Amino acid sequence: MAVSNEKVHPKVQEFLQKGPRKLFIGGQFVESYSGKTFKSVNPATGDDLCEVYEADDKDVDRAVDAAEKAFHGPWSKMSASERSRMIWKLADLIEENLEPIAQLETLDNGKPIRETRNADVPLVIDHFRYYAGWVNKFSGEVINNSLHPHIFTYTRREPIGVCGQIIPWNFPLLMASWKLGAALATGNVVILKSAEDTPLSVLYLAELIQQAGFPEGVVNFISGYGHIAGAAITNHPRIRKIAFTGSTEVGKIIMRDASKNVKRVTLELGGKSPNIVFPDADFSKAVPGALHSIFFNQGQVCSAGARLFVHKKIYDNFLSDMSNAASKIKIGPGLEEETQIGPLVSAKQYETVRGYLEKGKEEGAKALTGGVTNEGPGYFVQPTIFADVNEQMTIAREEIFGPVVAAMPFDGEEQIADVVRRANDSEYGLGAGVWTTDVRKAHKVAHALEAGTVWVNCYNLFDAAMPFGGFKQSGFGREMGKYALEMYTDVKSVWVNLE
Ligand code: NDP
Repeated sequence: MAVSNEKVHPKVQEFLQKGPRKLFIGGQFVESYSGKTFKSVNPATGDDLCEVYEADDKDVDRAVDAAEKAFHGPWSKMSASERSRMIWKLADLIEENLEPIAQLETLDNGKPIRETRNADVPLVIDHFRYYAGWVNKFSGEVINNSLHPHIFTYTRREPIGVCGQIIPWNFPLLMASWKLGAALATGNVVILKSAEDTPLSVLYLAELIQQAGFPEGVVNFISGYGHIAGAAITNHPRIRKIAFTGSTEVGKIIMRDASKNVKRVTLELGGKSPNIVFPDADFSKAVPGALHSIFFNQGQVCSAGARLFVHKKIYDNFLSDMSNAASKIKIGPGLEEETQIGPLVSAKQYETVRGYLEKGKEEGAKALTGGVTNEGPGYFVQPTIFADVNEQMTIAREEIFGPVVAAMPFDGEEQIADVVRRANDSEYGLGAGVWTTDVRKAHKVAHALEAGTVWVNCYNLFDAAMPFGGFKQSGFGREMGKYALEMYTDVKSVWVNLE
């Protein structure tokens, strides 16, 4: 453990010093069968944080056994109100541990403490409370059939069973809560694999799951590599559903592998989201909004506003205001209170983003600000605004997943069709932003954009009650809200002859 900072919470120090962190299977912390471990790294320094046991297919098998036992045993026998109270209790325990969890997430992922403390962890708490409330409210319905009055028909919403959940590194605990909340509220059992770069916060969560009193095996956490542990989950014949968040490339592999036993699949994948600023936009909101849309979480957000379309009339002024503000953003280690942009998550992601910066310059884009990475230690990239971008450039088409925006002018005040066509010209369709004070235009554009979420005069707002997911190659199915409950249940039709 290489954190020697007096600001680090004693619970975090203790967590990191406990030796290799174990897998959480059947309600117990266990070593992996192979005994292999991997290292979790602090991206602000490049130093090791701690070791974690690495799971393979045998560990996944063991987790499936434990999950099935819980599903057919105590979990399904528990009343709805007991289940609800348990999920609520978990939220209370997270709240009691907000500071150590926020710090651990910051150390493992790099993101600023002001975000983990004020956004990630509070959203996690809200999420569990929201789904605790759904447990006894989501059900089937009585259906009036056309046959005969003595034929009584109704539907039931039944849990799917053992669900595999595979999450990325950009919001580790939040992504876990998005997936766990709906799955547990509907009575499923879960095997969740964290990303190899950020395994720690869910292992802390595992301790709270134990304390909340969940029956053994209801929730199992697997740490390890995607092509080994992730593939073992996707290919497992007794896992009935996969919920995945990550790259479109891996999403396609998961869809293929899941087809072997017709697993239900929900995919939340990549994006290259357009953010459109009309000339009548309120600058005082649109400038910080456009900055937040791309620089929040170091740009490592699937819905980041990475393609910025600004009307020609205001293009120069808007970009100049944005660049001035961007050049003042405080970059530093996530644990520093003033830090607004932390390091990227890993050396690999740093190299990927560095490659895109070079590519952008080679292809003729002009970096108004940033355009470079910091020398180490740590994986820091300067917030970058590229102007003079055209839509054929690589930086305008591919998901960069870093603090890099590609700005492009558009023309024609009344003619929204052209900018909408350009915004929709992408294989992705996750998020989109519109900035205008004209309410008619706002709705027209929101309806015309091919995206699962459209933000008008705001960006990157999330709430447990609002569904989130993609159009096109950004995936299908929805996380959050009532929609997510549908993704974790099968519908059973029951026919009863009352004569
Ligand atoms: P991946 O899609 O590779 O990883 C997401 C999760 O899937 C991780 O837990 C990963 O494990 C796992 N995984 C990887 N391969 C397999 C497999 N064959 N079967 C089952 N599970 C697998 O994303 P990366 O971390 O590699 O990031 C690459 C790019 O993906 C980013 O640059 C970004 O463009 C995009 N991305 C999009 C995200 C989103 O929110 N939509 C989130 C993260 C990344 P492991 O961690 O071991 O690789």
